[in-house]
Amino acid sequence: MTTVSSGIRVLDGETVNQIAAGEVVERPASIVKELVENAIDAGASLITVDIGANRKEITRIRISDDGSGIPADEVTLAFLPHATSKIRIADDLSSCMTLGFRGEALASIAAIAYVTILTRHRGEEAGTRMIISGGEVLEHGGIGAPVGTSLTVEEIFFTTPARRKFLRSLATELSRISTVVEVFSLLYPAITFRYVLNGQEKSASYGGQTLGEVLRAIRPDEADHMVPIRKEEGGIRLHGFLSLPSLIRQNTQRILIAVNGRLISSSRINGAIRSGYGTLIPSHTFPVVVLMISLDPSRVDANIHPTKREIRVSQESDLLRFISSAFRETLSGLDLSHQDSHPGGKEEDSPPGLLSSSPAVSIRYPPMQTTAERVCEATLAGYRTTARQLRQTRLLMDGGEEAGEPRFPALTYIGQIAATYLLASNERGDLIVIDQHAAHERVRYDQLKKEQEGGTLSQELIIPVVLHLSPSEGHLLEDIRSLLEKEGFLIEPFGKDAWCVRGVPVVLGRCEDPEAVREIITSALHEDQDTRLRESVSRLVACRGAVKAGVVLTTDQGEEIIRQLSYTSEPFTCPHGRPTIVSFTKTRLEELFRRR
Ligand code: ADP
Ligand code: MG
Repeated sequence: MTTVSSGIRVLDGETVNQIAAGEVVERPASIVKELVENAIDAGASLITVDIGANRKEITRIRISDDGSGIPADEVTLAFLPHATSKIRIADDLSSCMTLGFRGEALASIAAIAYVTILTRHRGEEAGTRMIISGGEVLEHGGIGAPVGTSLTVEEIFFTTPARRKFLRSLATELSRISTVVEVFSLLYPAITFRYVLNGQEKSASYGGQTLGEVLRAIRPDEADHMVPIRKEEGGIRLHGFLSLPSLIRQNTQRILIAVNGRLISSSRINGAIRSGYGTLIPSHTFPVVVLMISLDPSRVDANIHPTKREIRVSQESDLLRFISSAFRETLSGLDLSHQDSHPGGKEEDSPPGLLSSSPAVSIRYPPMQTTAERVCEATLAGYRTTARQLRQTRLLMDGGEEAGEPRFPALTYIGQIAATYLLASNERGDLIVIDQHAAHERVRYDQLKKEQEGGTLSQELIIPVVLHLSPSEGHLLEDIRSLLEKEGFLIEPFGKDAWCVRGVPVVLGRCEDPEAVREIITSALHEDQDTRLRESVSRLVACRGAVKAGVVLTTDQGEEIIRQLSYTSEPFTCPHGRPTIVSFTKTRLEELFRRR
């Protein structure tokens, strides 16, 4: 058996510094982040991030600023651990508005690299140049320099080779650095940021701008799909941009949140934002957001983790609720029909198609179709089913208290294509295409929600549906039975491993289809959260019994779907977050026909 050599000892200063450094400077991008934060704290209006790299790795990081500079007699101090000019006593933390306060960054960076600082304080005649490496001062003297600070970091991680090995490829590290610069340019639109790689300017933001202007400059594609948000309540101020449902991502990486100017990550705030979108976007997707939150600094504790990306906020639930409702309100005031807009100049990116308006592309015609691909014919049975489905949603709608105002003005119905899409036009002359199934699904979903508010009604099935479940599914059903009953299902045990469904929610309609009942209940069994279960049952109930794609509709029926859709709360997406309406604006049509 091997034993660890005994004897507790206090680590020497250099080792301590290297451990601390590991927490603050994980990788080149974290060095950039720390130094840019220092420059911002110093009141800089121009910050240059200048990176040198060979083919394998980053060899030099230089951050220069035109901020206050460091007084000559304080330069060595700045590199001592826990040396900071930003707070004096712990109490100051509660009013701290600067990005730094732990006094760790410079000491940490100097512990793992070869650092040259050139700085002149704005109140002094001459500047200071100092070289410090592995924590030791190698050179220190006066020198002429412009006001501000320039810090050059070389031989990065030379004292901690293990860390160096863990670095990702050069491309990854560089992309992290450019993300850091991009994020700071968004968070501080008033400051000019330049990003230079091997002597070449890669990007620059122009200070004195608004967030919207910077967004448009650095992420033009995304900016086209984003709208501003600005709300204030109870000492919380929100301001920023959020994406329309036409711009979504599979993860939260494009959600930028800053609290009092500090970039933070918070899954709870991400969750609040996501819930503000409700059914506007598909579940498991996330919007693109830049959100600045201003709060009384005494409510924020950033001193939780060395990188300060985690924070604690007092009365966080108020904040979360406010964020959620602010997003919901902002989105509900918008026309969210998905537009087929190709903002000018992007056509080159899309494959040259029949509709491409790029002059360089010759127009190809599709082969003539001699026979219709699929003959769609109304059948009497189909007609009756649709009529019943629409009557049911109409009855429920008109039976409710007030249908309210329509969410979009009445459309002129043109017809149906592919037995799936309804064509219509508005007064402006835009061409509107509506997915009949998605639209009716939205109508049903809304009614279901309204119904649930007034307590769900159940109707007895004429022929009960029997479910045979495995023992483990049986247990799951036991667990969620009372929840399902709240949704309007009546379920009873029916011998060994069998269950009998005697009633279903009224909204499910006269449900002759036992398969639909089975599908809803079995898929509910596999939802792991009560709230999600409720949602997924609602969505399934909405989906089953909605007019299907591939069903030929009469003019009256098509018009009725559009009319019912216009009275829903969110007519532009179905409960699964897919679009219900796509519009080709008149302008877009004119572009396509080269009338403009
Ligand atoms: P912190 O930012 O937490 O105070 P740092 O180690 O990052 O700790 O910096 C230590 C101190 O050095 C700061 O408090 C500040 O006084 C000074 N300093 C660092 N960088 C700059 C800069 N770019 N301009 C002016 N002062 C700086
Ligand atoms: Mg700092």
